[in-house]
Amino acid sequence: MNALMNTRMDSKYLDKMTACHDCDLLVERIPLDVDQQAHCPRCNNLMYQERRDTNNKTLIASFSGLLMVMPAYFTPMMNMEALGIGNSASVIQSIPPMLNSSYWIAGLGLMLFAVLVPILILLISFWISLHLRFELYPKYLVTLQKSYQRLISWGMSEVYILGLIVAFVKLLDDFTVTIGAGLICFILLMFCSLLVTTTSSRHHFWETLNANS
Ligand SMILES: [Zn+2]
Repeated sequence: MNALMNTRMDSKYLDKMTACHDCDLLVERIPLDVDQQAHCPRCNNLMYQERRDTNNKTLIASFSGLLMVMPAYFTPMMNMEALGIGNSASVIQSIPPMLNSSYWIAGLGLMLFAVLVPILILLISFWISLHLRFELYPKYLVTLQKSYQRLISWGMSEVYILGLIVAFVKLLDDFTVTIGAGLICFILLMFCSLLVTTTSSRHHFWETLNANS
């Protein structure tokens, strides 16, 4: 009985604590005003901040990203022309030839990190923020949030945007390149996916769920 009470007290006490990402110092989490930031007293690293309308921002960013999915993956990214011969392909069209060539690792990376992971990040964050917006807390939301927290560490939007810019500049040397709608939508989708990871707050999620369970 005593052990159970101690465990409950410990979990209540630990719930108020937060660890610094840089130096691991354990600090008591105090409520902040909107736009206020809390810094680590030991290394001055930003530990947490109180953002305005965090859930609504995530909902809008994820919904906007989901609207870009079809045009980003199924319309041509760019048209390349050399000696009067033109060629264009969408992201989805470019994956099978890559998987069947010696560049299959790059094809696999493209399929996982440029298609599946960003779509899953947008879908899950949209679904979670939609539920929080309408104050619905089904049990599976916990599993979804845990999956989302694991997934965001696999998101590499900025790497792909940088890769696209480098490829585009290199192609300009040998081809006449025309930007397609697919490329613009793809960059917008990656931007929304990146935005979602900065607007969503796992602390907000767990606190909301704790207050309503
Ligand atoms: Zn620190």
